[in-house]
Amino acid sequence: MDQVRYIRSLFAREDEVLRSIEGGLAERKMPQISVPPETGKTLYLLAKICSARRILEIGALGGYSTIWLARALPPGGRLISLELKEEHASFARENANRAGVGKQVEFRVGDATELLAALENEGASFDFVFIDADKERYVDYLERSIRLARTGAVICADNALRGGRVCDESDRRPSTEAIRRFNEALSRDPRLESMLVPVGDGLAVARVR
Ligand code: SAM
Repeated sequence: MDQVRYIRSLFAREDEVLRSIEGGLAERKMPQISVPPETGKTLYLLAKICSARRILEIGALGGYSTIWLARALPPGGRLISLELKEEHASFARENANRAGVGKQVEFRVGDATELLAALENEGASFDFVFIDADKERYVDYLERSIRLARTGAVICADNALRGGRVCDESDRRPSTEAIRRFNEALSRDPRLESMLVPVGDGLAVARVR
């Protein structure tokens, strides 16, 4: 058994709903790019450790990470998930309902930049933010997330390693360059304390000072 399977078998077991999402995405010809179980469990634990009551997610797809995060909420807690595509949000909503967290989760459909601006106008504030959408805009999402986060909030972002490509200087793909810029911004921002955790495809974790 390899290390990842070993970790999954002990620490990141999926229930029937979580297990079904990958197949559901394939049937609908949607991308199968949900976070892996070990990232889902890490997000769940971080949200619990910081007693998050208000969670923001950027990029829902089929709701796989949404469900892990929503399960960390206390009674009365809320999660808002922003998703560009109506068909993704509708599948995610279906899965959140099946997982028993539908009442705590609100999916907002549209471009994340606009939806984040609307949240700012509403005066929203979050204890935990998970960024997992278009990589080219991660730096902008980070800035907007910091504005929406309370002191002590946790901000996470997936794909911070891009399969190791961020370390390969010859890789000049726009998405790789964008993640490099994001990692540099995260590591240097005086408003944050941060770490890149090598779980899944690399989970960037920051605490807002
Ligand atoms: N977090 C999900 C999970 O682990 O289950 C996976 C999210 S997937 C990697 C990225 C999602 O972001 C896709 O569903 C995509 O449609 C959405 N997305 C891409 N660009 C976006 C944008 N500009 N605004 C909002 N959502 C966007």
